[in-house]
Amino acid sequence: MRHRREPWLEATGQVWKIHVFFALLAASILLTVPILDFARFSAFLPVSPVALGLLQMASFAGAMLWLVGSMVCESCGGSFAWYFVTHGGLGSWLVRLRAAADCPHCGEAPEPGPNR
Ligand SMILES: [Zn+2]
Repeated sequence: MRHRREPWLEATGQVWKIHVFFALLAASILLTVPILDFARFSAFLPVSPVALGLLQMASFAGAMLWLVGSMVCESCGGSFAWYFVTHGGLGSWLVRLRAAADCPHCGEAPEPGPNR
């Protein structure tokens, strides 16, 4: 019986890295709220708007660096996510990233194991 191949991220046990990316991205987005309305939040936030802005930029940059740097093919060392972010439509990179069954750089298709 032929089974549908498991997506590369699931087969390599790297789905959690997407969740870390979204957590960093969410932190970045949430930090824009007190930045945009600092007068309201300044009473109970003991930081300057510049510090908040730097923290927001750091979390966004961290999310992007994590996305590109953490999902790496064990066979060729290529950045799995970078390929999808830079090839094809910007609105569909995440769907293609999640659905891809093999490495876009070398074609490696990991066999699903019992611990993955
Ligand atoms: Zn590869």
